[in-house]
Amino acid sequence: MLASNPQPNIIITTHHKPDADALGSSLGLFNFFKELGLKSTVISPTDYGDFLTWLPGEKEVINFEENVEKSKELVADADLIFCLDFNSLKRINKLGEYVAASKAKKILIDHHLEPEGFTDNGLWTTGASSTCELVFLFIEQLGEVEKITKDIASCLYAGIMTDTASFKHPSTYPSTHRVAAVLLEKGVETNKIYEEIYDNYSVDRTRFIGFCLNEKLQILGDFNTALISVTADELKRYNIITGDTEGLVNYGLTIKGIKLSILIIDRVHLRKMSFRSKGNIPCNEMARLNFKGGGHFNAAGGESSEALEIVEEKVKSILKNYKHLLS
Ligand code: 5GP
Ligand code: MN
Repeated sequence: MLASNPQPNIIITTHHKPDADALGSSLGLFNFFKELGLKSTVISPTDYGDFLTWLPGEKEVINFEENVEKSKELVADADLIFCLDFNSLKRINKLGEYVAASKAKKILIDHHLEPEGFTDNGLWTTGASSTCELVFLFIEQLGEVEKITKDIASCLYAGIMTDTASFKHPSTYPSTHRVAAVLLEKGVETNKIYEEIYDNYSVDRTRFIGFCLNEKLQILGDFNTALISVTADELKRYNIITGDTEGLVNYGLTIKGIKLSILIIDRVHLRKMSFRSKGNIPCNEMARLNFKGGGHFNAAGGESSEALEIVEEKVKSILKNYKHLLS
């Protein structure tokens, strides 16, 4: 591609409501292409949390929902579309239709289970901590590690840190630490990145977490499961904005004996679910079979168009199918 066209039109996209791995990998690749003298454009299907606006290059990200026509044109004219941290077109909402229709070569860089197969090529494995780790491997395979700047390294470190919950999850492989070590050698300030992401909450968000833990947390003792279900009114009461519910589901798993934690959020137009588990409880299967979702074995998500109470009842009835693993 580069030999025949030295300035291809490159688009980088990632899943809706991107987290630090999604946006960090996208901007890590964007900043790397810049170092190669290649122009690329990052298109996010939606907005994202305020805790990501420090990422180098973020000001240049195009929000599809706010720039539909421009995004459509860019995607239609693209030669290459890099699809990062997702592997099913549904994860990029309406943008997926335009990506599917584009003549561009589509390249997947992703670590989620069960790729849908809409891409031509790529770097895919579930044996990596994060898409950011895979972007590093991509750069390494090109023999260009010396081109990694502090900005690129900071983007990639952000996704590795968050997807491993600070090097804690079982998806923290020897390769993860090896990659992180190289990124530190490139100048990453680990404490600064940690503070940007985790010490950046609003007072409202902090009080909302307190409210959820105090008044909304249900312990389903027979199933060693924690469940939090939040109404649209409650989100409004605490002025909850994009990114504010990130991390809430993890609290359930900090309780002794709890093996599964579920969060249901009423986002008005749909109900969004997050599943987190310990050990052999298959979150991705629960999400895929019941809520049109997916993800990783121990961390997955899904959605439903049914009312919050119905979704809550459905979640509880599904637990019965997993009683042998949960109790
Ligand atoms: P979260 O619960 O933080 O939204 O997502 C946890 C994991 O599940 C992430 O890896 C995310 O990509 C994946 N995930 C969340 N929601 C969905 C969904 O609706 N469909 C699919 N396929 N994956 C999801
Ligand atoms: Mn990821």
